[in-house]
Amino acid sequence: MNSDCLFCKIGAGEIPAEKLYEDEELLAFRDIAPQAPVHFLIIPKKHIQDPSGVGEDDEALIGRMMRTASKVAEKSGISDYRLVFNNGAEAGQTVFHIHMHVLGGRSLSWPPG
Ligand code: 5GP
Ligand code: ZN
Repeated sequence: MNSDCLFCKIGAGEIPAEKLYEDEELLAFRDIAPQAPVHFLIIPKKHIQDPSGVGEDDEALIGRMMRTASKVAEKSGISDYRLVFNNGAEAGQTVFHIHMHVLGGRSLSWPPG
């Protein structure tokens, strides 16, 4: 728990969020500024700054994030979706606690801007 970190606080329940799934290690919650009809984030409760901060001990945790994305997407009524991790400010990262975006419910263009 990093007391300066927004997503650590959401993970600890200190800041409210619209939760879609939670267990001891992970939390899925709706993005506050959705970019698609379905847009939620999956975070580990453990503070990891970004994808480049993922260690060997975290490999199973990151795999669980992906499996959870599929389950919550299905519960949200979508079968097609995009998973995004932004790593670093130039890539669009604004919250420096690793998070997986799950986006769907509309047609998504590729490549991204
Ligand atoms: P990033 O740009 O770092 O990849 O994504 C951060 C995401 O977190 C953004 O899509 C932003 O809308 C979302 N976000 C920022 N602050 C909050 C918040 O307090 N609550 C929720 N639910 N989402 C947030
Ligand atoms: Zn954090």
